[in-house]
Amino acid sequence: MEQPEFAVVASDGWFDGERHVAGPVTLRVANGKIAEIGAGDHGRVMAAWGLAVHRGAFLMPGLVDAHVHLFLDGGPTDGPTRSAHMKKSVEELTAAARASARQSLDHGVTLVRDAGDKHGINHLIRDEARAATNGLCRVRSGGSGIKRAKRYGAFMAGDVGDDDSIRDSVAQLAADNDEIKIILTGIIDFDAGAVTDEPQFTLDEARLITATAKKHGRQTFAHCSGIKGLRIAANATVDAIEHGFFMDRETLAIMRDNQVAWTPTFCPVHFQWAKPEAVGWSTNTIGHLRRIIDSHAEHLRLAHEMGVTLLLGTDAGSMGVEHGKAMFEEIQRYLEAGLPLSAALQAATANNRRHFGLAPTLTVDADFEANLLAASPFLQSSALAQPPLKTWLAG
Ligand SMILES: [Zn+2]
Repeated sequence: MEQPEFAVVASDGWFDGERHVAGPVTLRVANGKIAEIGAGDHGRVMAAWGLAVHRGAFLMPGLVDAHVHLFLDGGPTDGPTRSAHMKKSVEELTAAARASARQSLDHGVTLVRDAGDKHGINHLIRDEARAATNGLCRVRSGGSGIKRAKRYGAFMAGDVGDDDSIRDSVAQLAADNDEIKIILTGIIDFDAGAVTDEPQFTLDEARLITATAKKHGRQTFAHCSGIKGLRIAANATVDAIEHGFFMDRETLAIMRDNQVAWTPTFCPVHFQWAKPEAVGWSTNTIGHLRRIIDSHAEHLRLAHEMGVTLLLGTDAGSMGVEHGKAMFEEIQRYLEAGLPLSAALQAATANNRRHFGLAPTLTVDADFEANLLAASPFLQSSALAQPPLKTWLAG
């Protein structure tokens, strides 16, 4: 019988979360923790001792998707199906979220941060996922976020009013949410090629939110695009800016200095550019989409050079952005932007784990949460497009 808590893994190459080693490695796992890491392939010796040995071409930490919506399904790309999904019962949406968490784990994603759902289904799946035997990825839950009445974000956030109402709502959400999600701006108007509405919160209000969240021991993350909102988010010291389209160098400098991380989420915009027929975009709008993606890539490269912490997240659940599968696509966007593969993988593993308070890398004494692949992504670019040979979820 296989005892994964006492496994041995021999791999031709590996990535510890920050560092790529091209040569073979052997890891011994005991009681779910990494007991020993040795250079070279010692699998045969360990097998002779009666230990179960798993072999593969490449070992890396479990992938972490920093931005998903579990209750949404990115698979169907036609408008009527997506609208009908939003009207389903909470039971049906919970089943959809469970399927998303299962699909994520099947693709080697061991942890996701759910970026908001108004029903709190993310909390429910977080609880179910605590038992590793359920076959679900682990969930860091953003619960329901906060927004202004009659403004964007009703599917993932509740309304707040004056300062007292902000304080009360944040305090209440902090009881169950792992993080507080702020809907700071609307979405991009692709026809206009810009974010056209005003931010939902002023700098003082955003500061009140981050300070209140901090008082209750919670991090904040802000849905935010467009330079007005980005300046507010960076100066209010949210812990992470999500999406962040229309970024500029000055804001990146503030983010670096204030230790504000960035989750760029290329996937949903890239899908709409790659498959404009799904929405029926005009040639003019397709041009806007390309320009927005190119500028986003340029600022991602700049952020990497300037030392802004990058969290890789896909916005899975958005149209055309499928849970689990989208990780490979988002990594491709990082590579297209000119980042080295090691930086993209670090954003998808160690950076996310550190940001969420977990041991960042595969080191001795760390919980063993890892993927064993049939090929090295450093040798074969499609290696991460296939589900791993094996995924270990920490107990
Ligand atoms: Zn989102």
